[in-house]
Amino acid sequence: MTLEVYQKKRTFKKTPEPKGKSPEKSQVQETLSFVIQKHRAQNLHFDFRLEQGNILKSWAIPKGPPLKAGIKRLAVLVEDHPLEYKNFEGTIPEGNYGAGTVEIWDKGTYKLVPRKNFKQDFEDGHLTLMISGKKLKGEFALVQMKNRGLKNWLMIKAEEKKK
Ligand code: MN
Repeated sequence: MTLEVYQKKRTFKKTPEPKGKSPEKSQVQETLSFVIQKHRAQNLHFDFRLEQGNILKSWAIPKGPPLKAGIKRLAVLVEDHPLEYKNFEGTIPEGNYGAGTVEIWDKGTYKLVPRKNFKQDFEDGHLTLMISGKKLKGEFALVQMKNRGLKNWLMIKAEEKKK
């Protein structure tokens, strides 16, 4: 997990986005934060970001996250972002990477429902998350579509469990 790709794509004198610090080892924390930023760039999309150590694992969701059980949405893995990005809202000036407006659409906390641990589950291409946001609530899965390249994942809202 590194911010190298994120930083290379941007000129921090020209964009108000945070530069970020070098990632430290992942801290063991039960409850971590997530954010979804509505990004009106060339194509409108929703950036879904999960705190992991000093960075945010990030996916771009063209149609937005699933809000109903059983719905699947394409989520394209993008470069790790700095942790401070979870508070970023603003305008990325024209001519810069991701030019357009960014607004926080939802935020809150999540817990991994681990198979092994975050790093291993991520590498295996299957994360199960319990999300507590204002708009997103409950269990979600992120599943890599291994036959469609490493970047293409699906975000799926789990069926509600019967009590
Ligand atoms: Mn974006």
